[in-house]
Amino acid sequence: MIYLDNAATTRTAPEVVEAMLPYFTEYYGNAGSIYRLGTRSKKAIIQAKETIAETLNAQPNEIYFTAGGSESDNWALKAVYEAYADRGRHIITSRIEHHAVLNTCEYLEKLGASVTYLDVDENGIVDVEQLTKAIRPDTILISIMYANNEIGTIQPVKEIGEIADRHGILFHTDAVQVYGQLPVDVKECHIDLLSASGHKFNGPKGVGFLYIGKKAKIRSFIHGGQQERGRRAGTENVAGIVGMETAVKRAYRIMEEKTAKETELRDYLTDRIIQEIPGARLNGHPVKRLPGNVNISFESIEGETVLIMLDMKGICASGGSACTTGALDPSHVLLALGQPPELARGALRMTLGEENTKEEMDIVVQELKRIIGSIRQHRSGYGDSEACGV
Ligand SMILES: *Cc1c(COP(=O)(O)O)cnc(C)c1O
Repeated sequence: MIYLDNAATTRTAPEVVEAMLPYFTEYYGNAGSIYRLGTRSKKAIIQAKETIAETLNAQPNEIYFTAGGSESDNWALKAVYEAYADRGRHIITSRIEHHAVLNTCEYLEKLGASVTYLDVDENGIVDVEQLTKAIRPDTILISIMYANNEIGTIQPVKEIGEIADRHGILFHTDAVQVYGQLPVDVKECHIDLLSASGHKFNGPKGVGFLYIGKKAKIRSFIHGGQQERGRRAGTENVAGIVGMETAVKRAYRIMEEKTAKETELRDYLTDRIIQEIPGARLNGHPVKRLPGNVNISFESIEGETVLIMLDMKGICASGGSACTTGALDPSHVLLALGQPPELARGALRMTLGEENTKEEMDIVVQELKRIIGSIRQHRSGYGDSEACGV
């Protein structure tokens, strides 16, 4: 198997699983209990917050554990809206956010929020001038993702943070694709809220965190017990938290080497595909992109067909389409880049990890050439190729 879908999820590292196991079987105490079995869990949670805070240039009491990126995004947006509604109801975001942000914004619009969805340029970068112009006296929040999960484009987060800070507006960033891959500094970038998820950097699924800086005065998200400083009730997922902490330490230990390796493989794979397969073009920014992200659109090709044929060869990749109501919708991200729907439907996303090799890239190119060649040949044999579009 060749796994090229690390933006969807990653393999849990063996050292992560090993660190988690005793928290199921031996140290299973409730972190809220008074006896030593409980305080052991409590200590593990405090330790994990210290580890994470240090990587972000934050304080441990600014880290709140959640069930992952989606919850962190929901919490950030809904809680800011609730706490600041008397000051204003305007939120600025972008058209290429993850659905955890976009659908939450849509929900808040139903409650009375006014949301501006910023455009991006043909490489997927937010226009900071348009952002500045969009700011109104009633703007309470700017939510722009650190890097995009489909095309890997990295936003000018520091510039955006400075603009938000200058206007006294809170800045949230969905850093799920960045945290654990590249260094992140919340102070330097004036980030007030940041979402991250364990399973995107070789940690376990179902655990993540929300960084809430001191400036953001937001209330509890889940009501109940006093866990997470009374802001997110529920018995803590101690094993998950310990697993994520272990994944954080590991990620920072290997970060430099991993980035260098993935960048090299990314550019090698991209260059070969562009050069050797006709009608292929790279989506997203050529350099301001995540080290492991390759996203390519193929002319007159259905991405879904390519994925199925790749799977038959043991290659796991992802499309640029989201299968929503049974219909194959072209990706909202690719459409925001100005790509016509036909081309957007022919998109293929391959996201690399530190385990991938150059030999694997060669196999992928060889298979892609064969698959795309045969689809096109098959199509032309039928004459009118557009009529049979799924
Ligand atoms: C994966 C992802 C999420 C959702 O994270 P979960 O932990 O799976 O809920 C949110 N935002 C981005 C950018 C992602 O890539």
